[in-house]
Amino acid sequence: MRQPKQSAEVKNIVGKLKRHFGKTLENATKEELYKASAICIRDEIIDKWVAANAQVEKRGLKRVYYMSAEFLMGRAYTNNLVNLGLKERYQKAFSSLGLDLDDIAWQERDAGLGNGGLGRLAACFLESLATLDLPAIGCGIRYEHGLFRQKIVDGEQVEMDDNWLEDGCVWEMERPDEEVEVRFGGHVEEFWDEAGMHAVHKDYSTVIAVPYDMPVVGYESKMPATLRLWSARSKDPFDIKTFNQGQYLQAMQEKELAESICKVLYPDDNHEQGKILRLKQFYFFTSATMQSMVRSHKERYGDLHTLPSHVVVQINDTHPTLAIPELMRILMDQEGYTWSEAYNLVSRIFNYTNHTILSEALECWDENMFRALLPRIYSIVQEINQRYCERLNRYYPGDMDRISDMAVVAYGQIRMANLCVAVASHVNGVSQLHGEILKNRLFADSYKIYPRKYLAITNGITHRRWLAVANPGLTALMTEYIGDGFIKDYTQFEKLMDFVEDEAFLAKYAQVKKENKVRLAQYLQRTQGITINPDSIFDVQAKRLHEYKRQLLKCLHILYLYNALAENPNIITTPITFIFAAKAAPGYARAKNIIRLINAIGDLVNNDPRSKDKMQVVFIENYGVSIAELLIPATDISEQLSTAGLEASGTGNMKFMMNGAITLGTMDGANIEIFDEVGKDNIYIFGANIQQISQMQAHKSYRPGELFEKNLHVRDAINRLIDGTLPGVSAHQFSDLYQSLLFGDFDGADKYFVLYDLPSYIHRFAKAYALYCDNSQDWYKKAAINTAKSGFFSSDRTISEYNRSVWKLEKLK
Ligand SMILES: *Cc1c(COP(=O)(O)O)cnc(C)c1O
Repeated sequence: MRQPKQSAEVKNIVGKLKRHFGKTLENATKEELYKASAICIRDEIIDKWVAANAQVEKRGLKRVYYMSAEFLMGRAYTNNLVNLGLKERYQKAFSSLGLDLDDIAWQERDAGLGNGGLGRLAACFLESLATLDLPAIGCGIRYEHGLFRQKIVDGEQVEMDDNWLEDGCVWEMERPDEEVEVRFGGHVEEFWDEAGMHAVHKDYSTVIAVPYDMPVVGYESKMPATLRLWSARSKDPFDIKTFNQGQYLQAMQEKELAESICKVLYPDDNHEQGKILRLKQFYFFTSATMQSMVRSHKERYGDLHTLPSHVVVQINDTHPTLAIPELMRILMDQEGYTWSEAYNLVSRIFNYTNHTILSEALECWDENMFRALLPRIYSIVQEINQRYCERLNRYYPGDMDRISDMAVVAYGQIRMANLCVAVASHVNGVSQLHGEILKNRLFADSYKIYPRKYLAITNGITHRRWLAVANPGLTALMTEYIGDGFIKDYTQFEKLMDFVEDEAFLAKYAQVKKENKVRLAQYLQRTQGITINPDSIFDVQAKRLHEYKRQLLKCLHILYLYNALAENPNIITTPITFIFAAKAAPGYARAKNIIRLINAIGDLVNNDPRSKDKMQVVFIENYGVSIAELLIPATDISEQLSTAGLEASGTGNMKFMMNGAITLGTMDGANIEIFDEVGKDNIYIFGANIQQISQMQAHKSYRPGELFEKNLHVRDAINRLIDGTLPGVSAHQFSDLYQSLLFGDFDGADKYFVLYDLPSYIHRFAKAYALYCDNSQDWYKKAAINTAKSGFFSSDRTISEYNRSVWKLEKLK
């Protein structure tokens, strides 16, 4: 029988199948086909990677070390194909074998080494750095278990293990030759000689840090970035000599310490608990990164005085802050620098990005715990603090309250944000509003002394992953109308403005949206057995579950609509699908109860004959990068409901906008800048702004109870929480939520102003909904304007701003 001629890709895959798995096309599993083809793709990347890194070294280019405890990478496969320009060839190769490329790509496990926006930002930044040919290395932790997988069982969240490395990871490469030792515990002895004071660290436990490098491929770029994740290994736990010296127990302790460090990612988003294991994780990866940074600089340039010309470090939130005292330690204890020489270098290298002003998220460590775990680092932090407070005392003489507010060590706590602010050369917020909040509130006293330290650089998203990969339909349509230059050059999104009134274009734009809805519906049918209607409007709130993000506001709105429908069946003409996707931190009881509420509302609304053909409530399990890639392109309304002042930026809002969802949101974070870009007619804004919220807080003038009495809609919606009409739960299930809205905890009722904003939300939703029903041409015009104006939110723009004002890297030419 004659075989059709095999393409180069197929031949290549066949070769890898044989060598790596001893299989042929006929008996290979999908997973083996995925791996074999991924190895082919990896080969192409490595050639580039090696050549580019050699160039960077030869030319002595400066590198940014982007340090982050989280990198929410998702899958690499399709992204690599798109960025290498190979997607069509592999698509053809697989279809010649009767297979679908997407199906192969979904064999990969998501690298879910992050909680939400902060980790995803780090991933987007690496991709943009690579695309812009800027030398970069991302440094983090190789957690063996990523963020838990979420199942919904009887309406409740159930957490399951994410053992993402179970079947190996094709993209990573172990670098045993670059191992370093990280030391914990013990004590410090100080002694003086003619050269000054010396510190000697004794009786510590050692953990070996082993780096695993992964290339992050940019679009049409010369240089993949490197993601370096550190894994912990114990130091020869069965070393017979140690045993014989009677140190069996210490050896076993070291083994246990090593094995626990990289086990699991903490599943809290915007919440710090001061856990000792978390401190170990942070010191582990920051120490390893600083040691390897110093070592590679010395190998190349010999002299550490030139360090600031060749490296710059960006600290993603406070998690990597220990890199600062760790570099001080290396410079003084190992390299013999004086305090002031070392401090001078360190203060030129580090920069800090703040991500939140929520007090429960600001990282503080118990002083005693910190000292016991990291005695040498503790003494350096003390010294930094002492000298800093002396400086502060010159600006605020005798103002002890202010100085202890700003201090790094105070009241038995070590405050990481204050350490960053004390030492970093730049401190930035992640949206314009957030930058203002840092200057005027959180770090106001520091800002008055060092105004030039403070910057606001609005976050961004890589439009390769969030458009070119996630939404091939829209990408093809844009390419048809404006060419494909926008993939490399975000300023070209604007060219779409020429077509936003073009009927043929809008019809195709609507068609793409429809196809994306069908794609999502098929996924939900296949995975959760849920049927949704692709002809309904898709209203989506997808993000971590947190009270400040106000999924509860959306719940009350749905209950309001359900109540209203009973009185007037005509208020809903086009059916609405309300889609939620959110993981709650396993220890965050109220957040988990809100998930239970969403599902109870679903049971009520989806089964009542009066409502079930008009509205449907759906909870998508296990929100993560890959599900976001399916969900966001299918969305019509993007729900961005945070209480004004509390969402530092948001990046989900940007992904939705780019994919033609219209934002229904508050004047918060980057929503404000979306408003500025699209104009008031192309976004639906509701609720109190930050000034109004601040006023109510300052005057303690907000009384949710009065609102409840006066506004029937509000009252009837809230009463559903406790009147026993929600199916499948006891009457008490949601009384905590009810109480929190009307009476509150120790800190006042309805801390997040849910009831305050509900009437205005109801009103704006109705406006958006009416437009969708009455004038679909106008709706898609607004949607297309959102896409056309989304170029500003490309992380290419963000990275260019960081580079211009902070990093000053040179492109590899
Ligand atoms: C973008 C993204 C986020 C952040 O969403 P916000 O709405 O900005 O909180 C969280 N999780 C995933 C998987 C994302 O892709």
